[in-house]
Amino acid sequence: MESYSHPLYSCRKCRTPVALAEDLLSKSFVAKSGKAFMFSQAMNTVLGKKYDKPLITGNFTIADLYCKTCGEELGWKYIKCHEKTQSYKVGRFIIEKAKIVKEY
Ligand SMILES: [Zn+2]
Repeated sequence: MESYSHPLYSCRKCRTPVALAEDLLSKSFVAKSGKAFMFSQAMNTVLGKKYDKPLITGNFTIADLYCKTCGEELGWKYIKCHEKTQSYKVGRFIIEKAKIVKEY
């Protein structure tokens, strides 16, 4: 088992670490299930197919993000952005709060 710096966020289903608290950028995102967090990076995850998605803030190309261990859908990654003002999101990960637990 690799060791990660704590605190971190792990998959609620299987407790695999998926993101570090130090990589948390914002807690003010909203996803299907409610609140979501933005991270600069994620780990132990796999990406689904890329697709275009019109969001409230503009048109994006995103890919769904899944837990590598149990396959649970966690959120998504911004792959490409079609609005200049939103380009800071490119390469960032959105993970739904309901899908993760914080571990100290
Ligand atoms: Zn999992």
